[in-house]
Amino acid sequence: MSTPLTPPGATRRQRISSLQEIEELPGLQKVVRSLHEQREWLDRVHIELTEIPAPTFLETERASYMAERFRELGLERVRVDSAGNLLGERPGTSSGLIAVTAHLDTVSPPGMPIVVKRDNGRFCAPGISDNGAGLAALLGTAAAVQRSRIETDLSLLFVANVGEEGEGNLCGMRHLFAQRELSEHVQGVLVLDGANIKHTAIAGLGSRRFLIAITGPGGHSWSDFGAVNPIHALARAVTQLNEIDLPSNPRTSLNIGAIQGGTTVNSIPQSAWMKVDIRSSEAAMIQQLSLALESAIQAGVEKENQRGSGRLEATITPIGDRPVAEMPPSARILEVIREVDQSLGIQSRLECSSTDANIPLSLGIEAIATGGGGSGGGAHTPDEWYHPQGRELGLQRILLIVLRLAGVFDEAEA
Ligand SMILES: [Zn+2]
Repeated sequence: MSTPLTPPGATRRQRISSLQEIEELPGLQKVVRSLHEQREWLDRVHIELTEIPAPTFLETERASYMAERFRELGLERVRVDSAGNLLGERPGTSSGLIAVTAHLDTVSPPGMPIVVKRDNGRFCAPGISDNGAGLAALLGTAAAVQRSRIETDLSLLFVANVGEEGEGNLCGMRHLFAQRELSEHVQGVLVLDGANIKHTAIAGLGSRRFLIAITGPGGHSWSDFGAVNPIHALARAVTQLNEIDLPSNPRTSLNIGAIQGGTTVNSIPQSAWMKVDIRSSEAAMIQQLSLALESAIQAGVEKENQRGSGRLEATITPIGDRPVAEMPPSARILEVIREVDQSLGIQSRLECSSTDANIPLSLGIEAIATGGGGSGGGAHTPDEWYHPQGRELGLQRILLIVLRLAGVFDEAEA
């Protein structure tokens, strides 16, 4: 959209320079007062979208539902990119962009039907909060900003992206920001994830994930006893890993999240595998632990090869890599979140976490991740829940952050 011509006799439009002036705009006040009017609609779409299963890599149907809502709200250039991300725009007057994103995918297994149950004001279903709440907030924000009729300097790009959870490995955000013509214009990213507004991720926790597989000849538990055993080798490696003293500063974790091997109790297994997740706020720690993991596997296999007959082989396959990323303390988005939270009386802990924001942050683009409002719990469990009380405050907060980042024109002469 180009800058509208100034009508004769009108004064030139001014970009508003303070948060207070944005809060005092009649358009904003009207929209904040009427946030509760969209409550019924937002609860309904929140439940509807949650009931469309969207396991990682299978987000298409939920993306189509969101696309319909984007169009209804009057967003422009609504499209799905080749990775499956849904994009919609609200044009500003200049070429820069502020991106507001929420991930579409859930950790529910493919084929599992999702039914939202209501219980005492709570909505209960897997994915209702993570990331039903974020997607609902994305729609709620788009609806509110459209209704406000406030004109922004930068354009707003609304994105419902794929591939955040688990082995999605942030593929949606990676694809989005790999497009230079888009990423070059993005001046700030607000990632909406879950409900909780009391936590805001301002730095990207790094993680690396590995699949370790050990294979061997196998055999009968009695007649071939003495042959190398992949489970025994894996167990040695696990013991060695458990003995590593992990620092609390920088906070670092090493988790063996899945382990499997063998077929029957009276067989020497032919294979065993495990999945390992390493996280730290410091890249050097992740590197160090990745090497420690490698040597633990090597030691476990070697010991078993020395002890028994036959030979074990180990393969280590990386299945995830999220970069550690930080913003300079002078980042504008940090200033904006502090200013908005202070104005609304919200005390949000600014912390380091592993989110979609890791990708823009690792490219030097300012980004934060926070909840969409209301409350929720039990993420990634069958007992996940969401309560919409307080959602309006979350939306008001997002609205102010977005408008402050995008820059707003005084509407007096509009
Ligand atoms: Zn999430």
